[in-house]
Amino acid sequence: MLKLEHLGIAVKDLINANECYTKLLGAEPYKQEEVASEGVMTSFFRAGESKIELLEATNEQSAIAKFIEKRGEGLHHMAFEVEDIYQEMARLREQGFQILNDQPKKGADNKLVCFIHPKSAGGVLVELCQEIKASDTE
Ligand code: ZN
Repeated sequence: MLKLEHLGIAVKDLINANECYTKLLGAEPYKQEEVASEGVMTSFFRAGESKIELLEATNEQSAIAKFIEKRGEGLHHMAFEVEDIYQEMARLREQGFQILNDQPKKGADNKLVCFIHPKSAGGVLVELCQEIKASDTE
């Protein structure tokens, strides 16, 4: 069974959204991190055993910029933690899910990530993520 690791929320203004989610959750973000390769600045909050990831685009080519242009701010993806991302990608491919990456890539929060097309997952973009262990090499 997959574990919900975080929900990703696309926002226009990270400073405003940080304030809003700090009030909502009753705690400040514990981490802010830029993922330059994805053109996003992220901010993480703890929410029980899961997290909330706020995502602001840092350029117009960013998937977050395009998402907001099309659909406005809101839920962008849900992320499930997996033990072995390669094995899960193979399993889900076999189950007929459309996986958007051939290989996992480096995401925020020290994780390997890949995405499943919303069309094959009830309209929501799904992220699989696996913690990068110290023993793993680049
Ligand atoms: Zn995410």
